[in-house]
Amino acid sequence: MAKTINNRTVVFALAGNPNSGKTTLFNELTGSHYEVGNWAGVTVERKEGICKYVFHNHITHMDTHEHESAHRHDDASHNHIKIVDLPGTYSLSPNSAEEVITRDFILKEKPDLILNIVDATNLERNLYLTTQLAEMGTPMVVALNMMDALKSNGFEIDIESLEKRFGIRIMPISASKGRGVQDLVNEALYIAANEKLPKPPVHYGAKLEKAISAIKAEEDCPRLCAVKLLERDARLAESVKSDTSKMLVENINTEIPDMETFVASKRYKFIKSAVKQCVSVTGENRQAERTKKIDRVLNHKIWAIPIFVLIMFLIFQITFGPFGTMLSDLVDMLFNVKFSGLVSGWLEALGASDFARGLVVDGIIAGVGGVITFFPQIMLLFLFLSFMEDSGYMARTAFIMDKLFIKLGLSGKSFVPMIMGFGCSVPAIMSVRTLENERDRKLTLLLVPFMSCGAKMPVYAVFVAALFPNNGGLVIFSLYFIGVILGIISGLIFSKTVLKGDIPPFVLELPPYRMPTLKSTFHHMWEKAKDFAVRAGTVLLAASVIIWLLQNLDFTLHVTHDSSKSIIGVIGHIIAPVFAPCGFGNWQAAVSLISGFAAKEAVVSTMSILHGVGDTSALAGSLSGIFTPLQGYAFLVFVLLYVPCVAAVSALRTELNSRKLTLFSVVWQIGIAWIMSMLVYQIGSIFV
Ligand code: GDP
Ligand code: MG
Repeated sequence: MAKTINNRTVVFALAGNPNSGKTTLFNELTGSHYEVGNWAGVTVERKEGICKYVFHNHITHMDTHEHESAHRHDDASHNHIKIVDLPGTYSLSPNSAEEVITRDFILKEKPDLILNIVDATNLERNLYLTTQLAEMGTPMVVALNMMDALKSNGFEIDIESLEKRFGIRIMPISASKGRGVQDLVNEALYIAANEKLPKPPVHYGAKLEKAISAIKAEEDCPRLCAVKLLERDARLAESVKSDTSKMLVENINTEIPDMETFVASKRYKFIKSAVKQCVSVTGENRQAERTKKIDRVLNHKIWAIPIFVLIMFLIFQITFGPFGTMLSDLVDMLFNVKFSGLVSGWLEALGASDFARGLVVDGIIAGVGGVITFFPQIMLLFLFLSFMEDSGYMARTAFIMDKLFIKLGLSGKSFVPMIMGFGCSVPAIMSVRTLENERDRKLTLLLVPFMSCGAKMPVYAVFVAALFPNNGGLVIFSLYFIGVILGIISGLIFSKTVLKGDIPPFVLELPPYRMPTLKSTFHHMWEKAKDFAVRAGTVLLAASVIIWLLQNLDFTLHVTHDSSKSIIGVIGHIIAPVFAPCGFGNWQAAVSLISGFAAKEAVVSTMSILHGVGDTSALAGSLSGIFTPLQGYAFLVFVLLYVPCVAAVSALRTELNSRKLTLFSVVWQIGIAWIMSMLVYQIGSIFV
């Protein structure tokens, strides 16, 4: 039967670590309007107030106590509760004024209950005080505070199991939100009324326990005092009454030289194992921890950019190096040689005309094959890019580059599409959609074509083989570099003219790092590749047919085998003089640039056809006869910078959603390409 404490003011002593929310709970309980803050010494003075909460039959969190709660209602409903706010302390050693005040108040003024407030987000440190308070022989309840923060930090506490280990009632609350406070008061009143003493949680070993029991009996003091006496507590030592106790203290201290450390370590050990058992980390937080660790390296102040460059280098090395090339060669073999030969054979067997056979084999199959050949490399690049995206790294590259880009009038977010532009402009242009600011989107769309796309590689490769056999790497690197620099310069110009506006502040929430599943990475890769295949496939198929026809028909629409008399040849002769200042005024170059509009790699195939050579090394041989290294370099600069292929332009048109801006982009690109290659040739001619 519950004990009656009616008609008497009940005293609750509020004890806890500094910063555990003591003042907040105190204000919540008393309804007073003390300022909540943490100025040193604020709680060193004794503060008390009357609790505005009274017993309220509103216990929903524990059905098992339903029966008892009826009694509680009878017993404790009319009590006044006085709350005494004790100074914040970490322990009850006599080391500081706060510790002594807290200990003395509980020992001497004997409150009805210790209300121990514990910061749930800092459990291990907070529970140290709890192990000591639990030994004071006073009814006690733990208010487990900051439960709201705990959840958002990604932790979970098994309160029931923690209660069992500590032998103390634990009530979850959020003092700042006033959550759980009524239940806490109800429970506290019940425990106070019934003088329910907490079980001492920590067991110090048989020998020490025997001594503690003996001293407790001799001195008639709480367990904590017995322990403190055994620790030779300076303040308590004088008050020892019996000689038996003194002897016990001596004996124990000769056996265990550093009692204080011994006891403390027993407590910590107990707390550690309890926390380990009762606190679990939910998924999100483990992820946050891992993300922090990875970011320490990948988002490092100094190393972030070099690491990023290295990663990109490796990706391009794999994609466009021997491995990617091998895959492409394989497809080239299967499609452009085997399949092409097979179809050619069938058509011949069917008695198709030379014209029809040429259109299908040299036009459609060769044209579409030009793209399919690069498909494995494109897939490979997309696989890496998808992995970078899915893992959360891509979002960081924008973050890494932001500071640099802001200085250039660009947003760091433009960086991802630019990088993708190294692979293929079409997906890069489409990826611009993810930027949420309209101006940023347009600006980025105008820059992406400056990034040297993968399809330009075959052109570089052929010219390097022909004209720069010894420093090809440097030549290709310089081209990529020129592309990036001119893109950025163009962006600067646009942001000051056509696309004026402020750079929006970079508000990007960095996602956590995740190990992407193979399935999702492949799925994303395929999504990109599929789009590319469909767009480039349809456009390229048509373009291939057109170019082949223009190459094989003259203006009277009769078949011609003299390319220079064909429609494309005549146009080439008309256009060629335009490129004379750039150093490549021959009509084949002009024509191949036109077919390069269909697909950049078509520059190479067109040249092969026009120079009448079948394979790459033969083409290199004839190119070295036509171009000087300087002319060749000027030509490559033009190929690098001029209008991207049809597929890219049509993607640009869709994404810009403006014919005018698309036209502007095309004209700008061609203009820049002409000016740059002209400058390269003219200035170069002075020196060479
Ligand atoms: P004291 O030093 O123990 O008196 O702690 P305070 O009452 O001054 O609280 C310390 C900080 O914790 C303050 O910024 C409070 O706003 C905050 N705080 C207190 N209780 C809670 C809670 O339940 N949840 C959260 N998230 N913060 C709390
Ligand atoms: Mg305070």
